[in-house]
Formats: sequence, C-alpha cells, structure tokens
Amino acid sequence: MNVASEQHVHPLGTHRVIDPPGAMPQSAWKVDNTPVAFENEILCDVEVLNIDSASFKQIADACGGDEAKIEEHVLGIVRERGKQHNPVTGSGGMFIGYVSSIGERIRERMDLKPGDRIASLVSLTLTPLHIEAITRIDVATGRIWIRGKAILFESGLWAKLPADIDENVALAVLDVAGAPAQVQRLCKPGQTVVVIGADGKSGLLSCAQAKARVGPEGVVIGVAPSKATPSARVLEEGGFVDHFVVADARNALELSETVAAVAPELADITINCVNVPNTELGSILCTKQDGIVYFFSMSTSFTAAALGAEGVGKDITMIVGNGYAKGHADTALQTLRDNPRIHQYFDEKYANKG
Ligand code: NAP
Repeated sequence: MNVASEQHVHPLGTHRVIDPPGAMPQSAWKVDNTPVAFENEILCDVEVLNIDSASFKQIADACGGDEAKIEEHVLGIVRERGKQHNPVTGSGGMFIGYVSSIGERIRERMDLKPGDRIASLVSLTLTPLHIEAITRIDVATGRIWIRGKAILFESGLWAKLPADIDENVALAVLDVAGAPAQVQRLCKPGQTVVVIGADGKSGLLSCAQAKARVGPEGVVIGVAPSKATPSARVLEEGGFVDHFVVADARNALELSETVAAVAPELADITINCVNVPNTELGSILCTKQDGIVYFFSMSTSFTAAALGAEGVGKDITMIVGNGYAKGHADTALQTLRDNPRIHQYFDEKYANKG
C-alpha cells in the first residue's frame, strides 16, 4: 500500500511511516520503502551501505562472520522494516549513491541534480531502503555493496563527495563525522582528554581533534584493547596521543586505574567511541568531578550511564552523541586532510574497496 498517496507529504518523512501510526520515521518499526520519490523527496540509486560499527559487529557476531548469513540477516531486516534499522542495537549507518530523481516541489531549491554522487548524512534507521540484491560484503569494514534505492526526505542531510578524498574513505569519515566535530567544540587548551576506542574510525579522528584543541599543555590519552593494531601505531607514532593505554573498557575498575596511573586527576573530558556495550561506568570513572563524558558509542545505555554516575557519586555532564553537528561533514573531512598519517591509514584500510 502506498501510504503517502493517502496523506500530505511531510518534510520529516512521517508520510512514509507504516507502523506504528503517528511515529517518526526513525522510531517507527516499519516505513514504506516504495522506491519512487514523492514531490518532496530525493530518490537515490544506492551503491554501498556503511553499516554502523555497533550494528555490523552485532550482526556479524550473530551470524558467526558468515557472509551468506549476514546477507540474509540484512535482507531480512530491510524486508521487515523497510529500512536498515538493526532491532538489537537500534542503529543504522549511511549510504553512498547517485541521485536518481528529485521531487518537483523541492527540485528548484536543491543544489543537486540527477546523477550527482552523494553520501547520506542521516541514519539508515530512518531512510526508506529497497534492496534488489546484495552484491558484496566486506566484513573487515562493515561495508555492504547493493543494487537498490533509498529515499531522502526534504529534511534529510547529505553531502556531495569531495573530489580530493577517495569515496570509500569519505564514507568511513562521514559516518562518524559527529565525533570530531563535537570534540572540536568541547575540548579546550590545557585539558586532559581520554578517548576510549581510540584506534577506531571515530577514535582516531577524535584523538587528532583533541590533540589539536588541548595544545602542548594538554594531555590526550587513547584507550584500546591492544597496542598491536596498525591504527594504534598511527596514534603513537603520529603523536595523536600522549599516552596509549591498553585496557578493556568493559572492566570499569581496570580501565579507570590504568588511566589514573598516567593522569591521577582523571579526565576533564572522556570521549567514548567503542562498538561494544557495557562501557558506561568505565567512562564515568575515568572522568573527574564536574567533567564531561561524550557518549558517541551506539552501544551506550542511558540507564547504565545515569544510574552508574549516581551510584559512584559523580556529578558530571553526560552528552548523548548526536550524529549531527553544524558543519560536521566539513570538520571531519578537514580533520583527515590536516592529518596525513591518519589519512594514509584510512586510505590503506578503506580506499579502493569497490
Ligand atoms: P570502530 O571503527 O569499529 O571502532 C571501535 C573501537 O572500539 C575500536 O578501536 C575497538 O578496538 C574499540 N573497542 C572495542 N571493544 C573495546 C573494549 N572492550 N575496550 C576498549 N575499546 C574497545 O567504530 P566507529 O565507526 O569509530 O564507531 C564507534 C562507535 O560510534 C560505535 O558504537 C558506532 O556504532 C558509533 N557511531 C555513533 C554515531 C552517532 O551518531 N553517535 C555515528 C556513527 C557511529 P579494536 O578495533 O582494537 O577492537
């Protein structure tokens, strides 16, 4: 059934919601993924999905890393919900594709035309998606190549892909663009910043931004499960962290004691960039009284964070990692350009994967 034909189209896409009635597209269980643009929508031919890291890890673990099972799992979610909205993690990801058509009501005011290549900057959890076929899965990067179509609403965010950055690299960076942009806003000269999950995509960009912001008087501490990864070497050799701490962030005491060993007064700001659950308390314990924890991770539990901070008597500000910040795409891409060592690492890991 075509839901929109019975109602006025809405800039926020509520005309696409099927279940439950009255929900917003993001919170809806199911949206109408009919691959035709209504008068205020953009229809895209999708090439590749960048599945959110927490979501892809959960799906890959549930499927034992088997590509055929991952394919069936993802197709099943999209069949059932009309969008790639992982019901376990609640998270999505983003896509790269070509503009196929633009609804007549918004055509004139969009700086966009059919054939333009764009990355979506809104989550797949609210993006109507129609998959004809999955053509390739890269388990190492959480990337899924498809033949299919997606709808962007009038209110949806997108970015034209930059000419100077490999498009697969741009996709990886834009997926986590909120993190470096928020770090740039939050961190101040002289502060101590702890980045948990420092050797992942958002972690690397956050460390680079934090180091630039805190300056020579400040301290950046990167936390990851191992020193042996190529990205851990980038962090240390590139000088993006003052200390690299090996710890399992799910072990709150071990993490905070290891951090306290290098920063006895603890962090002014802790940035949580992990892709696993149960790291709220560790983040809280790493942070000094009156400090800030920025939970970028999609595995964050509000309950665990709120009750955890109360339980240990920490009067701290905890920020939900809004995926959007004004200018976040430009900030994230510029962070990459400004830091050739990190750019090189992203190129090695994500470029030419198509
Ligand atoms: P990523 O590249 O997969 O990085 C995840 C990092 O977490 C890796 O460095 C990983 O280390 C580390 N990690 C995993 N388990 C850990 C543990 N027990 N202790 C310490 N570190 C651990 O992920 P990403 O793409 O940067 O995304 C990071 C998080 O942000 C994910 O939860 C993702 O879903 C979320 N996200 C949020 C938004 C938003 O809008 N807020 C947008 C996009 C993504 P190893 O690689 O060494 O295992």
